[in-house]
Amino acid sequence: MVVDAQTRWSATPLPWQSDEFERLLVMQQQERLPHALMLVGPEGCGKRILAATLAASLLCHKRSGGSCGTCDGCLLAKAGSHGDSRWLEPEEGKRAIGIDPVREAIRFTQQTAGYGQHKVLIVSPAEAMTTSAANAILKTLEEPPGNSFIIFVCHRPGDLPATVRSRCQKVTVPAPDQGQALMWLGEQGLEADLARQAFDVSGGRVMAALAMARTGVLEGRAAIRRTFEQLLEASLAPAGAAADLSKVELETVLETGLSVLQHRLKSHSKSELHKNQAMFLLCDDISQWCAAVRGGLNLTREGLILQLCMRISTVTKLR
Ligand SMILES: [Zn+2]
Repeated sequence: MVVDAQTRWSATPLPWQSDEFERLLVMQQQERLPHALMLVGPEGCGKRILAATLAASLLCHKRSGGSCGTCDGCLLAKAGSHGDSRWLEPEEGKRAIGIDPVREAIRFTQQTAGYGQHKVLIVSPAEAMTTSAANAILKTLEEPPGNSFIIFVCHRPGDLPATVRSRCQKVTVPAPDQGQALMWLGEQGLEADLARQAFDVSGGRVMAALAMARTGVLEGRAAIRRTFEQLLEASLAPAGAAADLSKVELETVLETGLSVLQHRLKSHSKSELHKNQAMFLLCDDISQWCAAVRGGLNLTREGLILQLCMRISTVTKLR
């Protein structure tokens, strides 16, 4: 299986998703698979692969559960040209999914299936839908056309209107533990050292780890992490750290800072409660900044990065 973050067809789920996939397959075979599903799990755990695998199973003509990989339905789906399957994602260079593509996707679900079987619409990530786009899809979720299945891939369900969430059956997708992740990265052709480094640098997001290792951005990310770690160890002053980070994309800075803090929190003992609480608060703030940046809000970059570095350095000095 060739896997990358953009994989749109897969005959098998990722190893740590097999229980969830089995449950979905049983439901499909018993014809009680909900027509609106929401796959929820941490970013980078491979939810798209699970969505693609389930879609492949729904589009397979053999109806034997799973994807045979050889029937016309599977061949078309594999080639990305199956007319009954649609991925709805932010357009290139955009973050949001607007109302027009959503309306078009709704029309798609209402048409008769070209190959006489199921239609599958995958929205990824679902929280990228604007409020009006999310509202537009509500009615379809309430009364999905008989043979259509809508699969939402969702990292942050809290960013979606409750009305949308409540109309979907939630499927919690687990993230791999370190052992599973390293073994799987090895199976994708990564050397053990590179796999471990990518896993650490990605903050445990295995799909991001694979993409980073393959696209060579690992060194850049590793350097950003080192800057934050030096801040935490008080071996670098906030102004120096901010200068180091001045050329990096704001979202990358925030995401990496958050990941380093979360990693550090895991290794702290409970006795460091005072410091931990301050770190949790800072993590919350960084998450909010990330959401604001993703939402297109123009934050003052230099000021924000300096503030971030100063707060990390203050947290470290707490006794
Ligand atoms: Zn097939």
